[in-house]
Amino acid sequence: MRKLIQNIQLLNEQQELQAGSILIEQGRIIEINPKTTTDIDETIDGKGHFVSAGFIDVHVHLREPGGEQKETIETGTAAAAKGGYTTICAMPNTRPVPDTVENLTKVNELIKNNAKIRVLPYASITIREAGKERTDLAALKELGAFAFTDDGVGVQQAGMMYEAMQDAAKINMPIVAHCEDNTLIYAGVMHEGKKNKELGLKGIPSIAESVHIARDILLAEAAGAHYHVCHVSTKESVRVIRDAKKAGVKVTAEVSPHHLLLCEDDIPSNDAQWKMNPPLRAKEDLQALIEGLEDGTLDFIATDHAPHTFEEKANGMEQAPFGIVGLETAFPLLYTHFVKSGKWSLAQLIAWLTEKPADVFGLPYGRLHMGESADLVFIDLNKEQKIEIEKFLSKGTNTPFKEWSCIGWPVMTMFEGNIVWEEK
Ligand SMILES: [Zn+2]
Repeated sequence: MRKLIQNIQLLNEQQELQAGSILIEQGRIIEINPKTTTDIDETIDGKGHFVSAGFIDVHVHLREPGGEQKETIETGTAAAAKGGYTTICAMPNTRPVPDTVENLTKVNELIKNNAKIRVLPYASITIREAGKERTDLAALKELGAFAFTDDGVGVQQAGMMYEAMQDAAKINMPIVAHCEDNTLIYAGVMHEGKKNKELGLKGIPSIAESVHIARDILLAEAAGAHYHVCHVSTKESVRVIRDAKKAGVKVTAEVSPHHLLLCEDDIPSNDAQWKMNPPLRAKEDLQALIEGLEDGTLDFIATDHAPHTFEEKANGMEQAPFGIVGLETAFPLLYTHFVKSGKWSLAQLIAWLTEKPADVFGLPYGRLHMGESADLVFIDLNKEQKIEIEKFLSKGTNTPFKEWSCIGWPVMTMFEGNIVWEEK
């Protein structure tokens, strides 16, 4: 089965848009801009839209097993496909946690039966993410664990993290960390800054994150491990990661769209749609994150898609769980606010959503190359539309971006050569 996708725009080697076409066969790209097009079984009209390699999101909470009221693998991957993602990595803070061969086997089965796109599961660093007992990293790697993390919580004891890093280094696998020192949280529900005082709410100081990152960088250096930092949110974190990279430590990092777009000043009231962990920090932090991404200190963008039920999020900052959804809004928000505004090029943004995460984790996806999986997102760069939570495919509608007007929306997504989502 040979399919020709024509009437599309592609980024050329000069990183400019240019008319093009893609020939695919058996779910793989066999040629970009083919000169001869014989024996075509099916032609797909791209309607002049821009086509990129499908996006990669290494930080997604699919909630299944155990949290199916918030999201399932089916609804989460449908939301991902709608957002232009074709590869996502599922965080292990589920019930049960994929911390043993038995539990990860179950997760693999659920993915096989329900996922609409590629889902690569994380396994945990410690049993039940409780920080007390290490998991069998080698056995979990054998079963296809993407990497190891206790995301949702920080690994509190330095010795536990150090030993896990040594184990991971031996089998050439990354340790991925949600950085948060529990002794520095002070029961906070938002950033310890100006806004929490105005609202009379307890704050989480920036050091809760940055101290953990500084510690882990030294541990990773000693262990010789690849250490990846989740959702960086503070200017001090950016600084220590920048210094560590200069010193040759194998550290990589991600930043979420909401931390690039919002800060504490934007929080209108005691409304849990603005509650996430790490929290929205100060304006200077937001500036440092943008600079960090632009200078390569932060490697790429990941959403930290964290769906919760409407009821859970209706109860104000103190009661509600942390987290917002992100898969269906990431590209339109980032394109509108950074590319349309002239700050970034389209090629830069696309790289942070595709080849950069692929390179950090050695994934064979994220590029329109011959032989690669035909994972494609078609984007209408002129389409203007508001973010309508009623149209989300995710079960979660918890977002502070409701009703934001965006230009540039995915309109169709192909996974392994098949259409898995299309705007109707
Ligand atoms: Zn996290």
